[in-house]
Amino acid sequence: MKALVHTAPLKFEYREVPVPSFGDDEVLVRVKAVAICGSDVHGYTGTTGRRIPPIIMGHEAAGVVESTGRNVKNVTSGDRVTFDSTVYCNQCPACRQGRVNLCVNRKVLGVSTPTFHQEGAMAEYAVVPWWIIYPLPDAVSFEEAALIEPASVGLHAARLTPIDVNDVVAVVGAGQIGLFVMQGARVKGAGKIVVLDAKEERLVLSRSLGADVTINPSRSDVTGEMTRHLGRPDADAVLEAVGTEATVTLALGLTKQGGNITLIGNITPRIQVSLQDFVLRELTIRGSCAVAGEYRAALDLLASGRIQAKPLISRVMPLSEGQEAFDALHRGEPGLIKIVLQP
Ligand SMILES: [Zn+2]
Ligand SMILES: [Zn+2]
Repeated sequence: MKALVHTAPLKFEYREVPVPSFGDDEVLVRVKAVAICGSDVHGYTGTTGRRIPPIIMGHEAAGVVESTGRNVKNVTSGDRVTFDSTVYCNQCPACRQGRVNLCVNRKVLGVSTPTFHQEGAMAEYAVVPWWIIYPLPDAVSFEEAALIEPASVGLHAARLTPIDVNDVVAVVGAGQIGLFVMQGARVKGAGKIVVLDAKEERLVLSRSLGADVTINPSRSDVTGEMTRHLGRPDADAVLEAVGTEATVTLALGLTKQGGNITLIGNITPRIQVSLQDFVLRELTIRGSCAVAGEYRAALDLLASGRIQAKPLISRVMPLSEGQEAFDALHRGEPGLIKIVLQP
């Protein structure tokens, strides 16, 4: 089969590799669409230590079941499917509690670290265990389904965050994840949604996806804008989808006294924040990692149109042009949110 193999920092080779073999509990999927995640772009620079070459990346994908191992009962050849990015063990205490994103044996598709190596879906075929696979509703295209993973990440963060009916919710960062976090907060009952990003084009996209107020913190005074639009300078809950010192500080400052802040982004490994900002104001801070059971909800919400993925797809390109696609994202070409590759 053809695969996009990451061979060295900033480099891919589109080349012939063997079709992967699969075991009794595994499913061979013919990949129809695979999206490039921000973590893939970060990873291909060689600085994260989570895409150690050679590796076939790709953890946001959809396709058609080609064959199944003998223990597989939930899908059959020809089914349109998508799958979780996390290959969890389904046996450890965290998995048994349904907290599969915290599985102690967790591997991520298309990720290689010093402790594990799991080939991903930037290839004609991918192998996944049956318990992470989900049939696609007819209304959801393969390209949209390739965005189910980030959509589920957004829903997971919204689910963990206490959001009451009609609350003001602020989302810091309108990238691939922030745009789904924002839609997840709406599904959860937020009254007014404020989106903050330094890129104007992303704010425009946020408004088209239902943001009530958008603020560019690099151009305007955030509390002034909040007060002008909402009659108050702060939000009941803030979700942070970038992960730098500046954006976390912004998020802390936006959270009301006694409010909740959920951190999803983690670009900068270590940051400094003001302890008094959250101790004296009694904020509740929580982390949100990946997905734990939100796939089915994300598929239903996408099928019914209550969450939209299509507006986030900036380009669809053949897998053979993967190098160009990664380079364009790495350069930060204006207007690019998500690129979907087709094997
Ligand atoms: Zn991802
Ligand atoms: Zn587990």
